[in-house]
Amino acid sequence: MITYKEDKNHVMNTYSRYPIKLVKGNGCKVWDSEGNEYLDFVAGIAVNSLGHSHPEVVNAIKEQSEKLIHCSNLYWNENQIELANIICENSFGEKVFFANSGAEANEAAIKLARKYGTLKYGGKKYKIIAATNSFHGRTYGALTATGQFKYQKGFEPLVPGFKYVKYNDIDDLESAIDDETCAVMLEPIQGEGGINEGDKNYLQEVRKLCDEKDILLIFDEVQTGIGRTGKLFAYEHFGIVPNVMTLAKGLGSGFPIGAMIVDEKADVFVPGDHASTFGGNPLACAIGIKVMKIISDKSFLDQIKDKGDYLKKHLFYIKEKYSIMEEVRGKGLMIGCKLNMQEGGEIVKQAMKKGLLINIVNHNVLRFVPPLIVTKSEIDQALEILEDVFKNF
Ligand SMILES: *Cc1c(COP(=O)(O)O)cnc(C)c1O
Repeated sequence: MITYKEDKNHVMNTYSRYPIKLVKGNGCKVWDSEGNEYLDFVAGIAVNSLGHSHPEVVNAIKEQSEKLIHCSNLYWNENQIELANIICENSFGEKVFFANSGAEANEAAIKLARKYGTLKYGGKKYKIIAATNSFHGRTYGALTATGQFKYQKGFEPLVPGFKYVKYNDIDDLESAIDDETCAVMLEPIQGEGGINEGDKNYLQEVRKLCDEKDILLIFDEVQTGIGRTGKLFAYEHFGIVPNVMTLAKGLGSGFPIGAMIVDEKADVFVPGDHASTFGGNPLACAIGIKVMKIISDKSFLDQIKDKGDYLKKHLFYIKEKYSIMEEVRGKGLMIGCKLNMQEGGEIVKQAMKKGLLINIVNHNVLRFVPPLIVTKSEIDQALEILEDVFKNF
């Protein structure tokens, strides 16, 4: 048997992992190498949008992999064209650049913002403003945009030209903007930062400020996009549209794919400006097409909202019973429960022992991001396990 013990394998030690090895998944369930079954409310961190091994995703992989897995972006491939069309037909988008991950999509957005400042202002506009507690990825540009010191510590010097403002604080943003600002980059709901919802008024004011000063508004929807919040894209909740949006996690339901979507004004890249060897390859796009077709359906989106409301309502009931729960927040199937303790890791461990995978963000916020196909009875099961953990805590 292949061991996963840290001191006995050659996998680089970059993650603190739970001591189980997952070998199989189906729908909202996964199994470990010992045959234990778990209800999966982590879903690959909001990635397995259609659950594990969704038959239509499996089929798309089978069919496309027999035709053409990869070809270079030196040539056209029809899946890339079709997926870009589907995304734009269902959003504000005019053009799409394909990458392979969230960080890469954000790198593209950062470069694009700088290019915009170069084209229109001769390079005088180059500063990017991001929020504290944000998360945009681990590559240098994305890491610099990430307004959390714990991720940046030890990796300085970072990329120059970034500033941080308090999330949901319009005065802070207004005073941070100057003549050199080319973009504001925000998550409409912060994920890793603790499921912090953007305030509707705030985001509308941000949009207004960006319009007044010709600043690109970039929404990182890597986590919130693709139905997660009960709308296809989270910006739809706030009555505004960004100029640039990045996607990744749920778009491939487990297969790596990322995308940057831009409006007409931000469509400034020309051949040679940016590229990705794997980005938008026929296999990734065949899967993206399948996922988008299923999730963009209105009735599918409505049932995400319905199940999210159900989950939230029941979490509020539980909150009444256990002082361990301080706050319930989030939209659709992206819900956070702030716990009344410094570190919530022990809750996660005990839930795992009882057959529920769930995780913690920002020390003490329990995050619920199950597959979007989760059923109410699976939500009931998850809540039962949690109550069981809380009861004995
Ligand atoms: C996960 C995440 C990223 C990073 O995505 P990777 O695929 O890990 O590079 C960026 N932004 C947000 C909002 C995320 O949740």
